[in-house]
Amino acid sequence: MKSLGVLLSSVLLAVPIALISPAQAAEKETAAEKKTTAVIEKRVIGHSVDGRDITAWRLGNPRSSKKVLLLAGMHGNETGAVHTLRALRDGRPIDGADIWVVPVVNPDGVSRNTRQNARKVDLNRNFSTKWAKLGGAVNSGSKAFSEPESRAVRDFADEIRPTYTISFHQPLNGIDIRDTGNNKWAKRLADQIRLPRKAFDCFSKCHGTYSMWFRKHHPKGAVITVEMTKSPSKKYLERVAPRAILRSLNATR
Ligand SMILES: [Zn+2]
Repeated sequence: MKSLGVLLSSVLLAVPIALISPAQAAEKETAAEKKTTAVIEKRVIGHSVDGRDITAWRLGNPRSSKKVLLLAGMHGNETGAVHTLRALRDGRPIDGADIWVVPVVNPDGVSRNTRQNARKVDLNRNFSTKWAKLGGAVNSGSKAFSEPESRAVRDFADEIRPTYTISFHQPLNGIDIRDTGNNKWAKRLADQIRLPRKAFDCFSKCHGTYSMWFRKHHPKGAVITVEMTKSPSKKYLERVAPRAILRSLNATR
């Protein structure tokens, strides 16, 4: 039989072993973090002309049949919705939809505050559907999908096959209802996000846009082009719009 002294010292020795190590503590913290943020996966889906990452974050419930792709910053001088998608990403967990956000499709354009990418191409004229050679501000590139940014979006959309997708722009103040594939959703989104429903015709020059390409190649999915106003408030971008997107999808956070 062990003496009291031996018993006591073994208890004392056992105490530090029972304490949590710094590594375990960090692991615990990360687990706790995961439960309080919306992000469940992060992926680099491609690189810009200048080599910047194009990053997608997955939010919500991957098992949901509602597959959503949200794109912003395709025109680098239209960064309102960049804040909206980051607010969705950085908020509480989301349920009721499987959502991928790409807050900055055109990182070179955002860093230069230009509509076009580093090769002066308008990415929203560089998709293949009705692609036409266009110059100036809407320079469509040397051919359809000549740019790595539009190819990254195409390949990613083809992979995840969203049932709902939104392409965010500015400053035309409206939701394009021409050919969405789901007008009920478009109406719900317009009401929630406080924008009028309009028919944008790209000044009679709709060629090679993401929305046109998506409708043609993913006929079962719905696509909406959202044009926010020129200078939405911080509250609108970071609270009203994220909530509106989730409500339009019957998703919650
Ligand atoms: Zn735009």
